[in-house]
Amino acid sequence: MNDTALESRLAADLPGLRGRLMPHAPLKDLTWFRVGGPAEVLYLPADEADLAYFLKELPAEIPVTVIGLGSNLLVRDGGIEGVVIRLGGKGFGETTIEEGSRLRAGAAVPDVKVARAAADAGIAGLSFYRGIPGCVGGALRMNGGAHGRETCEVLVEARAVDRLGKVHVVPVAEMHYGYRYCGAPEDFIFTEALFQGEPGDPQAILAEMDNIAAYREEVQPIKSRTGGSTFKNPPGHKAWQLIDAAGCRGLSVGDARVSEMHCNFLINEGNATGADLEALGETVRKRVRAQSGVELEWEIKRLGLPA
Ligand SMILES: Cc1cc2nc3c(=O)[nH]c(=O)nc-3n(C[C@H](O)[C@H](O)[C@H](O)COP(=O)(O)OP(=O)(O)OC[C@H]3O[C@@H](n4cnc5c(N)ncnc54)[C@H](O)[C@@H]3O)c2cc1C
Repeated sequence: MNDTALESRLAADLPGLRGRLMPHAPLKDLTWFRVGGPAEVLYLPADEADLAYFLKELPAEIPVTVIGLGSNLLVRDGGIEGVVIRLGGKGFGETTIEEGSRLRAGAAVPDVKVARAAADAGIAGLSFYRGIPGCVGGALRMNGGAHGRETCEVLVEARAVDRLGKVHVVPVAEMHYGYRYCGAPEDFIFTEALFQGEPGDPQAILAEMDNIAAYREEVQPIKSRTGGSTFKNPPGHKAWQLIDAAGCRGLSVGDARVSEMHCNFLINEGNATGADLEALGETVRKRVRAQSGVELEWEIKRLGLPA
């Protein structure tokens, strides 16, 4: 279907919709890599009820993709078919402090704000989020973690809307978490998380966050167009060491380059395409396989169609 046609059809068929529908919406600027084609339709829900209404009414044959802050995404150059959903600060951007050192956060809240709100409230245990540049929805799906802690260790429960528009409250045990893996149903769009911390001193937590930020700046190319760790660490190995040993540090395809600073990071040095970055990643996988026999698994999510 041509993209404007899908948007017009949805707008006509869903008169109660309060969120925004945008046909042929560029996704480049919504990802850290700054590459990729457009969404056939981008939908920005007004709030959870609007999202549930949309999913309930959306014809089953239309594919749905959800994105967060795009810090773990490689969107291919042909863009994404169907509807791409992005939760925004308006309906999903609140944090609230609850009794017993708990913090509730909407899925669009950036991880760094989770860390900051927790620090301000004297809640320790969430400062690792200072270093992860995604939002709560992405952290829930990726089991985001850093500095020895992961989302699965601090999550009490999440709220999610399924493809039929039904709202679920999912206890952490039912997220079936593993290393950068979440076994909750793939159609679940997370809307909120309840985190558990412990009482702490705000000044000490803020100091810990400053240390995390300083460390990141030293060891990761955080000011570049990157997608963070490209590959998961295989059991018993560090991905960056395997990549380095296979001679891939600094390797490039077009404007896509393996970071010299941290060789599990790929960088868009200017005009790289999604295809350049993916080809570079696949070359790295091939060289590592040949050199060490280890099969690297993409941690970055690759979405959409080739050009
Ligand atoms: C410089 C840099 C450093 C990084 N360091 C770390 C690190 O230390 N630790 C770490 O774990 N990660 C790290 N990352 C990767 C990334 O920040 C995390 O994976 C983050 O959790 C992704 O969140 P996001 O909002 O950007 O999600 P996106 O990248 O937009 O999406 C990631 C996945 O989550 C899904 N998703 C997003 N929102 C929702 C939702 N509401 N409901 C259901 N699914 C959703 C998407 O469909 C996709 O599959 C780093 C990335 C960069 C660029």
